[in-house]
Amino acid sequence: MADISEAQVRQALAGVVDPDVGQDVVSAGMISGLVVKGSNVGFAVEVDPAKGAAKEPLRVACENAVMALPGVTSVTAVLTAHNPQGAGRGGAPAGGPAPGGAKPQQASGPKPPQKQGVPGVKSIVAVASAKGGVGKSTTAVNLAVALSKQGKKVGLLDADIYGPSVPRLMGLSGKPHSPDGKSIDPMGNHGIVCMSIGFLIEGDTPMIWRGPMVMSALEQLLREVNWGELDVLIVDMPPGTGDAQLTMAQRVPLTGAVVVSTPQDIALIDARKGLAMFRKVDVPVLGIIENMSYFLCPSCGERSEIFGHGGARETAAELGTDFIGEIPLHMSIRETSDDGRPIVSADPDGPHAMIYRGIADRVAEKIDEQLSGGRKGPRIVIQ
Ligand code: ADP
Repeated sequence: MADISEAQVRQALAGVVDPDVGQDVVSAGMISGLVVKGSNVGFAVEVDPAKGAAKEPLRVACENAVMALPGVTSVTAVLTAHNPQGAGRGGAPAGGPAPGGAKPQQASGPKPPQKQGVPGVKSIVAVASAKGGVGKSTTAVNLAVALSKQGKKVGLLDADIYGPSVPRLMGLSGKPHSPDGKSIDPMGNHGIVCMSIGFLIEGDTPMIWRGPMVMSALEQLLREVNWGELDVLIVDMPPGTGDAQLTMAQRVPLTGAVVVSTPQDIALIDARKGLAMFRKVDVPVLGIIENMSYFLCPSCGERSEIFGHGGARETAAELGTDFIGEIPLHMSIRETSDDGRPIVSADPDGPHAMIYRGIADRVAEKIDEQLSGGRKGPRIVIQ
């Protein structure tokens, strides 16, 4: 089948009308950064930043219109802030899709919508994974405690609305206190403050969180909690790379994200999706952490590479991000974690705590880099 042309894509998009503007998206100059690589198409839809997420249906309509073209196999449309100087300046969507394996390079695309910071909170780092059960929450909790051991003021926000496990991992129960009936005080343990959706719902409540509910829950946890002055707020994200996660990554003013993966190939394929998601919304990926990386025999101390070790390091290099560290699969990590005593707190000078503390040192360096505006995370654009 012949390759798709830009003209064909524009023609398809000309059939999508933005009801707010009363014009189709092409005539209104809302399409920018159009790129066609073989059968893969990517572009940005420039919208009024004030409308933000409300324009999601328009983005989907644009994607569907292009997807309906015969021969198109993938379409990635991102919403970007409208540029009053006019759209269609060329350039690709910032951190946008990379059809055809485009190389990372400096982006010149449209700026993402402004995200409102959280007063008093100097940096916010997401801990994410593309699937559940890889040890994301265990890593988030131990990373948070390890950062506090450096003397930092640290908060932990459990945004894993599908399966909030931070209360259990942190050994916290009960309800948080509200001093004024509006704001909520976080709960504290192991030297950090913590808030979880799990504190606010009964353990067995079945939850069906739709997109908007997810966001309002997260906005509340982020902005209506009395976090006080924090050096770092670690956000334990829900696993996966679906719409809910994407919206969170887009709306939370993240300094950066770390992606947790296990060494199995499948998980690593997923990890790529995790990276792609953050890049799509222009969040710097600070690096990949490989969890359950190798097995340390509790009796003889022998190291066995049961999953075929080292995949995350290679994947990180391939994807142009950093490898932050590897955590062994070890009974004591599971036991302490499931017992509400994260190992960095339970045995702060033990070998496993030292691994988490080394990881925390690297994460702290990367946060500083981002805050000082020094080395920016790589952004992918299309050539
Ligand atoms: P996720 O947040 O990715 O769903 P969890 O952090 O809840 O994963 O971990 C899943 C299970 O694996 C938990 O029982 C946890 O104690 C265990 N676990 C996580 N990391 C390790 C590790 N490095 N060694 C041993 N057990 C681990």
